Amino acid sequence: MSASISRVSRRWLASRPAHIRTMATKGPGSPRPAPTSSSYSTQPPNSKILTFARYSPWSKSFPGTWRTRALLQSAFYAVGIVLATNYVDSVWFPPETGYASPREIKVAIEKLKQAFPEEGRVSTDPVILTEHGSSENSYHPASPHAVVVQALSTEDVVKIVKIASECRMPMVVYSGATSLEGHYSGVSPGSICIDMSGMNNILEIHEADSDLICQAGIQWEDINQTLKDKGIPLFFPLDPGPGATIGGMIGTGCSGTNAVRYGTAKAEWFLNLTVVLPNGEVIKTRRRARKSSAGFDTTKLFIGAEGTLGIVTEATLRLAPLLPTKVAMAQFKNVEQAVNAVQDILNSPYGPHIQCVELLDDKMMEAINVAGVTTKPLPVCDTLFFKLQGDEPAIKLTAKTVQTIVKKHGSDRFEFASTDQEAEDLWQNRKYALTSTMGAHPGSRCWTTDVCVPVSKLPELVYETKKDLAAAGLRSTIVGHVGDGNFHALILFENDGELPKVNDAVHRLVHRALDLDGTCTGEHGVGIGKKQYLAEELGEGTVELMRSIKKAVDPMNLLNPGKLYPDKN
Ligand SMILES: Cc1cc2nc3c(=O)[nH]c(=O)nc-3n(C[C@H](O)[C@H](O)[C@H](O)COP(=O)(O)OP(=O)(O)OC[C@H]3O[C@@H](n4cnc5c(N)ncnc54)[C@H](O)[C@@H]3O)c2cc1C
Repeated sequence: MSASISRVSRRWLASRPAHIRTMATKGPGSPRPAPTSSSYSTQPPNSKILTFARYSPWSKSFPGTWRTRALLQSAFYAVGIVLATNYVDSVWFPPETGYASPREIKVAIEKLKQAFPEEGRVSTDPVILTEHGSSENSYHPASPHAVVVQALSTEDVVKIVKIASECRMPMVVYSGATSLEGHYSGVSPGSICIDMSGMNNILEIHEADSDLICQAGIQWEDINQTLKDKGIPLFFPLDPGPGATIGGMIGTGCSGTNAVRYGTAKAEWFLNLTVVLPNGEVIKTRRRARKSSAGFDTTKLFIGAEGTLGIVTEATLRLAPLLPTKVAMAQFKNVEQAVNAVQDILNSPYGPHIQCVELLDDKMMEAINVAGVTTKPLPVCDTLFFKLQGDEPAIKLTAKTVQTIVKKHGSDRFEFASTDQEAEDLWQNRKYALTSTMGAHPGSRCWTTDVCVPVSKLPELVYETKKDLAAAGLRSTIVGHVGDGNFHALILFENDGELPKVNDAVHRLVHRALDLDGTCTGEHGVGIGKKQYLAEELGEGTVELMRSIKKAVDPMNLLNPGKLYPDKN
């Protein structure tokens, strides 16, 4: 051993500067040359340490006693054990989320497969996981789920929720999948997607009470078609995107073209909800009575909650009588004229006969003509489409009033569709607005945004937004539920490189709406895309109240985490 030390030392010394050689051979007591700046930089460390550092304590050449070796080996083992434990801990028990580790996710999936052994009820197919965690209508970050489970009853949902909470797995409810702000994207490291689309039955229809009870996964169009097929002259008037379901409509606090006359999901259309809470408890928010003063309105707690407080499995819906409907159209030189006319019409004695007022800007009218999906082309200018409701005399009088008022506000073209076919043809322009925007710009993609302002502020919002989009070099069409001050810009782009430009334009649009005392979303909801604006719009106090409610109902933050509530700085 000593021979090998001296060999090593000699080799090392041979390569060192003279003063080090002197010190090493004559001992530490020998006089030391005065340091120069360069000699400081080459000053060797303790030669013994250097010699130790050169060999592993497991090496036969290690220059130390067996005690030193054993000590160093134990130290290495100890450090190794600490690092390995930390690694395993961070993978199995991710510290920042507190959610299931990959091993626990596998356990949860096994438990789900045992609870739902039927073919196709539990899927881990990567295509299905991705489809259920992302949307072609949203450009917000999205991740796939770890597993998708089809629920068919309230009991199924309870089973899933219990397994999820045992395994600390986030849950995301998925229904019609038409929401636009990344509402149902997956949660890292792995979420259970509860697919409600199979819960699509009407359970009871009470024609005499004008209500029905249905499962939450049914589409609003299917409800209305069923009522029509059964010859029941009632309908459910909330009309968001095609394919939207009752659960998703409650989740987003939706509305649609009919909001002028029938209001939004915040109104009286949901009499009672059956909800599975994050702890697996099933509650009903009310009974079937048309109204109730029994405490505060817990139904509303779940409207617009975006699946973060509970999973709605059944709902009692109020229905409205089906009324004869006709369609009219008026064209204007600018949006200001159009909006002023709408306010006058809605405030007239015939206002209650207006079911919808929709604004399509000149670019949208151009796109409709180019796409060619409607029966006849119309002049390219800012246009209002109306649906008028009532018996024949009421519709005639309403149409006359509308014609007089739009003329007063500068409209140079008014059309009234007196037959059902004419009405259908005219309304096609509104119905195919989105498809026409895409059809007129083949190969483009479309980012649909939604803001809402007090109606009188709408012309300013539309004018400034069009100017801003043009300055940014972006093409866009505009469609608005103008009776409510709600408007959507459909911004077109070709590739991912343009996304930041579109994103910035949307950001400026939202701030423009907030500056006009409006909201970042009139009907599409918050999801991931709008949560950054909530504190600015509502104030920190309101956002904190929302967070407190969430914490009280879902202390483990398992239901749709990462959506709706703004991230804390
Ligand atoms: C072409 C088009 C036009 C549109 N027009 C309109 C419009 O005019 N007005 C309008 O308001 N919206 C419109 N939308 C947006 C969309 O249709 C609505 O947001 C709709 O309410 C979403 O319903 P959904 O069933 O698709 O919900 P999903 O997209 O499946 O889910 C939406 C949210 O609700 C939650 N959720 C779903 N089911 C439940 C449940 N059972 N319990 C608790 N939470 C649940 C989800 O977790 C998610 O957070 C449009 C969309 C498109 C694509």
